[in-house]
Amino acid sequence: MAFLGSVLRSVVAVGAVVLGVVAPAAGAFKVTVTPSAVRQGDVALIVVTGAPATPDMDGSVAGRPLFFFPYADGYAALIGIDLAARPGKTPWRIGFVDRAGIARKSTGTITVKTRRFPVQRLSLPTSLVDLSPENEHRAEIEAARLRTLFDTTSAERLWRGRFTRPVASAARPEGFGSRRIINGKLRSPHSGADFAAAAGTPVVASNRGRVALVVNFFFGGRLVVLDHGQGLYTLYMHLERADVAEGALVERGSIIGAVGSSGRATGPHLHWAAHLRRARIDPDALLKLPVRD
Ligand SMILES: [Zn+2]
Repeated sequence: MAFLGSVLRSVVAVGAVVLGVVAPAAGAFKVTVTPSAVRQGDVALIVVTGAPATPDMDGSVAGRPLFFFPYADGYAALIGIDLAARPGKTPWRIGFVDRAGIARKSTGTITVKTRRFPVQRLSLPTSLVDLSPENEHRAEIEAARLRTLFDTTSAERLWRGRFTRPVASAARPEGFGSRRIINGKLRSPHSGADFAAAAGTPVVASNRGRVALVVNFFFGGRLVVLDHGQGLYTLYMHLERADVAEGALVERGSIIGAVGSSGRATGPHLHWAAHLRRARIDPDALLKLPVRD
């Protein structure tokens, strides 16, 4: 799942990196991305200013579409960089048709930087590691169900403004991207971040969204998936209980469940994950996203 990234080593603007500026003065537009240095697992905000109102803003990074929404006095889109994205330069393109009916575009490259993820070596009894054929089958079906969901892009952006922590706990989210070697065998990387919290601690929606899934999965246990629109999803796993039903629209900060240890969990904690289309992104990067309401 090699994915996108951002950063151009060219013209530096205040607090961001200018990806491309298109002259002439009549109708010049500007593209910026924040943060200015993008690593594997990051999520970046790409902002286009100086374009005429309500154009059919269109763009892509690494050939994958960007989904724009009106933002401040321009347009913005989120860029998700998968935790296993190939480091290096990635091409981007942005275009629209201006009021005079002239096609305008800007292109360039962005750079994904390597991020060093921790490696954990664990020795566990094989009974805890090797799944029965039934459970293996069940886990595969459940993983496919999530992939299908993440490939579904709702057109409307539901999230607004900054993302909030899903639990009222002082603990930092830990373990995103860590590579686990269990009994000498490399397992898939940890694609979420774990919050230590007591069982029963309320779990809240990180942002506005629609409840896309409330299920009980083999690995994730009781889990809730929120669809924030335009391909952005957040997942809340190992819940003791879920307090929302599929289809409900929830506001940022509203309670969706409680911390537990359901599924494959060694103790009560919240496994919180975020997907932007196929990119597995660090949910902590969402918390740092500098967006306005
Ligand atoms: Zn976890």
